[in-house]
Amino acid sequence: MSPQLSIIIPVYNEEDVLPKLFQRLYPALDALGRPYEILFVNDGSRDRSAALMRAQFERRPDVTRVVLFAGNFGQHRAILAGFAHARGRYIITLDADLQNPPEDIGRIVAQMDAGHDYVGTIRRRRQDAIWRRWASRLMNLLRERTTRVRITDQGCMFRGYARVVVDAVNQCSEYNTFVPALAYTFAMDPVEILVGHEERAGGRSKYSMLRLLRLNFDLMTGFSSVPVQLFSVFGICVSLLSGVLFVLLMVRRLFLGAEVQGVFTLFALAFMFIGTALFGIGLVGEYVGRIYDEVRHRPRYIVGAVLEHTPGEPAGDTAPEAAAGQGAAPPSGPPTTLASTGSPEQLPLPAIMYCASQPERGS
Ligand code: UDP
Ligand code: MG
Repeated sequence: MSPQLSIIIPVYNEEDVLPKLFQRLYPALDALGRPYEILFVNDGSRDRSAALMRAQFERRPDVTRVVLFAGNFGQHRAILAGFAHARGRYIITLDADLQNPPEDIGRIVAQMDAGHDYVGTIRRRRQDAIWRRWASRLMNLLRERTTRVRITDQGCMFRGYARVVVDAVNQCSEYNTFVPALAYTFAMDPVEILVGHEERAGGRSKYSMLRLLRLNFDLMTGFSSVPVQLFSVFGICVSLLSGVLFVLLMVRRLFLGAEVQGVFTLFALAFMFIGTALFGIGLVGEYVGRIYDEVRHRPRYIVGAVLEHTPGEPAGDTAPEAAAGQGAAPPSGPPTTLASTGSPEQLPLPAIMYCASQPERGS
């Protein structure tokens, strides 16, 4: 039976919080009384996260799947990989750090039951550093003005997406993207709800100021070309004004003679415009860089292996053709698949495999 809910959790160096997450997430989902799957995507963690997820997979193989990336590709690509592997009708993304309470999943599900195909969330009393809250507010404002994406709290990844929306996102192949905004563009009936927000249950935020800036550039340049158009408008205005200024200066030169006052004002103005021009070049560079990323056609992520239980197969059943050349079978345990190629539908069905051969590449 395919699950109704797929919970996607990107994980990057979260060994401090994973045990706490497991403790709260599974009971919260069991309490909903619906078939579910939890899809952890290990984004190339360098700590014990992968081992912890593997142990958890062995404890609850019926509802746990683990996609193991062959490197660190970023939170949004991890979510995209989760989308590509999810089997549920409702797909919910959640961070691993317990900043959003897993107990609120039921509230998202209720909205989806009511027919909404996109459930956004707004963090109640956001528990983040003050500079992040202000930066978010500024970015929200800019995004509201420059794109058609209407999300109140873009930074919150705790969201629900209907299967149709996820299928549409799965057809997109842009290299750098911002999942909630991309999904929003395909939503017919979006809604937003308030959810709880807590401090991280452990570990540290994976976003430095620079990484946040890059993410926000993804959002701004990925969904609108208004920023460069604004620069064109600004350039036109400045050119017109400088023309007027030129005429004015010529007239003053003729009637008042040579003037040298105001040199420092001139410097200040010149620096301001040089700064603005450099920013404009940088902005164009952002778009060019993104186009460059696209034309290279490199995979967005590489899946080293997928840990999953293949439903309907007796424990320990090994398909010789599938296992051939895949390394040694595990000594014992639940029926599991450590597969590495293709989409979930293409995975070799009955198997216990423990060694990845060809990595799966996210287009
Ligand atoms: N994350 C990830 N890859 C990254 C950075 C973060 O998978 O390169 C995951 C991280 O493990 C967490 C989620 O994305 O589950 C959100 O990260 P974080 O809590 O550090 O972001 P913040 O809440 O500070 O915005
Ligand atoms: Mg967080």
